[in-house]
Amino acid sequence: MTDGQRHFSFFWKRWWVVVKDAAQIVLLSGGLDSVVNLALALQKGSVSLALTFDYGQRARAQETKAAGRISAFYTIRHRVVSLPWMAALGGAAILEQRSLPPRVCPQDLDDPIRSAESARAVWVPNRNGVFVQIAAAYAEAEQADWVVAGFNREEAASFPDNSGDFLETVNAALRYSTRTGVRVRSFTLDMDKVQIVRTGLELGVPLEDVWSCYLGGERMCGQCESCRRFQRAVAGTRIEEIVKERFAP
Ligand SMILES: [Zn+2]
Repeated sequence: MTDGQRHFSFFWKRWWVVVKDAAQIVLLSGGLDSVVNLALALQKGSVSLALTFDYGQRARAQETKAAGRISAFYTIRHRVVSLPWMAALGGAAILEQRSLPPRVCPQDLDDPIRSAESARAVWVPNRNGVFVQIAAAYAEAEQADWVVAGFNREEAASFPDNSGDFLETVNAALRYSTRTGVRVRSFTLDMDKVQIVRTGLELGVPLEDVWSCYLGGERMCGQCESCRRFQRAVAGTRIEEIVKERFAP
C-alpha cells in the first residue's frame, strides 16, 4: 500500500466511524412505522435509547409491551415516559374515557374527507410536537445526535405533524433550543405503509409483534384507521396470515 492509499484508507475509516457511530434516540410506540425506523436507525448508526410515551392512550399497555419486546429483540435500552397531564387534556378518541375512535372502511383510507374526519377524532393536542421535543431533551442530555421519528407520507396527508415541513421547522427551532444541535429525522418520511412493510420484511423486523391499533384489548380491533392501514400494508405479504390472527375476528 502506498502512502497515498494509506492516507486515504485512514480518513475513510475515520469518516466511517463518525457516520456509523452517530448516536440516535428512537421514538418507539411499538407500531409499524416506529419499529421499522428503529431497524433503519440501527443500519445507520448506534441507538442509545428507545422512548415510549404513556399519555393515557387506550392502547398504552399494548404499545408499551410491543415496544419493550422490540427493544429486547434489538437489545436497545427502553424507557417509558409518563405524561399524565396530556391524558388530562382530553378530547381525543384514542384517550381513555372518551368516545371510541371511528370505524373506517378500507375505501375510506384514500378519501381525504373521511381521513380528515378520522384524524380530527383521534387528534391529541400537539402530540408529535411534544414527543419530539422531549426526545430532543433526552438526546441533548445523553449527547445523542439524532431523534428518529416514525413519520410517513401516507399519514402526512391528514396529519401535518408527520410531514417534512414539520421536521424542517422542528429542526430549525432545535438549533436554538439545544446546545448540541440535536436534529430529528425519519427514514420513512417519503414512504407509504406498503413500502414500510416491504422495508421491514427485507430487514427481518419482527412485524408480527407490532401493535397498530388505537384501542386496547386482547387483539387489535381491525376496524380503526390505524388497523385498516396496517392490514392494507401487509396484504399479500408473507406475514399476512400471521398478522391476521392478531386481529379480533
Ligand atoms: Zn384498531
